[in-house]
Amino acid sequence: MTQHSDDSIPELTMASGPTTIYPQVLAAMSKPMMHHHDPHFTALMHGVTTKLAQVFKTAGTVLPIAGESIVGLEMAAYNLVQPGDVCINIVTGVYGAGYSRVLKAYGAQVVEVRTAYNSSATMDMVLDAMDSNPQAKIIAMVHSETPSASENPIKEICMEAHRRGMLSIVDSVSGIGGSNVETDAWGIDICVTGSQKCLSCSAGMALVSVSDKAWDAIMACPRYDSSYLSFKPWRRKWLEHSVLPYTAPISLVYGLDAALDIILDAGVNETIARHETAAQGMRAAVLASGLELWIDDESHAAHSVTAIRIPQGVEDAELRATLRESYGLCVSGGLGPMDGQLVRIGHMGATATRQRTITAFGALACALADLGHPIDATAGLDALRRVWSER
Ligand SMILES: *Cc1c(COP(=O)(O)O)cnc(C)c1O
Repeated sequence: MTQHSDDSIPELTMASGPTTIYPQVLAAMSKPMMHHHDPHFTALMHGVTTKLAQVFKTAGTVLPIAGESIVGLEMAAYNLVQPGDVCINIVTGVYGAGYSRVLKAYGAQVVEVRTAYNSSATMDMVLDAMDSNPQAKIIAMVHSETPSASENPIKEICMEAHRRGMLSIVDSVSGIGGSNVETDAWGIDICVTGSQKCLSCSAGMALVSVSDKAWDAIMACPRYDSSYLSFKPWRRKWLEHSVLPYTAPISLVYGLDAALDIILDAGVNETIARHETAAQGMRAAVLASGLELWIDDESHAAHSVTAIRIPQGVEDAELRATLRESYGLCVSGGLGPMDGQLVRIGHMGATATRQRTITAFGALACALADLGHPIDATAGLDALRRVWSER
């Protein structure tokens, strides 16, 4: 764990992203500046996008966009949705609900597939929506719904969408790098992730894969193509001439390159498996200690974050303040309708480890005891320890 001399920075951040990142990534971000048209920077960016393609499991393009992940998600709508298009949108949480508003802003007629926010969509629900709306052009979904700590079955959904000739948009901001995504094999047309979640870098970049079929739709879309949100300048300048259309966030690109090396050195699938163990371990600890998970069924649970119901009598803000002030741990609370009900522990990238999940669970048990709500910490830690030992 990094020791900070600055008390204003938590000892360990295991929020729902950004989280604590690797020292090598921090060091890479402190390297001297290069100009974004320097040939060495162009080569570095080609290297980064090639490495990203390996993580996304695609032979297609991955665009490195400066801006938070939300920018990449908005770009997908900007470039694909034309007024009157019917779009099916899967809403199993806060980000899914937000995306309905984005799609509508670009003129889509949105058909929602909804579940309670502690569950995931089923293929039956999706097939129903597809069958009842055969004119639907696009289907959008959140892979890992971070505020609910849940995952949707994107493999089945995207393969079916592909079979029907629909375009798919996947928000895998907290999925890619921590949960399996096979962009090409599953026929995903646009997949968006962020630099700060399972890739374990700083916040500030959206990484967006674009399929050939999506490129055809993008090039046919009549929207203003000099907008920062348009993918066309990326195609005309970066893909065709290796010229970046905008100033890249240089330091972040250094960091992302180092972060991708860590993932690829360990192996993409091994990194995903480590996230799966962290998630399984956290859930086992929660249940063994007498706490409750938010998710309705463990088969719906996310790889990169675990949501725990705050026990009756414990106040959300007080719990997080105790974790932060007494134990140096920053975690997330509940968002939207879950506000005040949940504590969410992120286990992404550098924090999806045995050491850090044990530290975080131990801190949670201590903070709850401080607030007069002791849990069975020994049983929880033992369950967590066992899951890691059995790997
Ligand atoms: C974090 C997150 C976002 C937003 O990412 P930003 O980089 O903050 O814009 C969107 N969707 C999901 C599922 C997320 O977890």
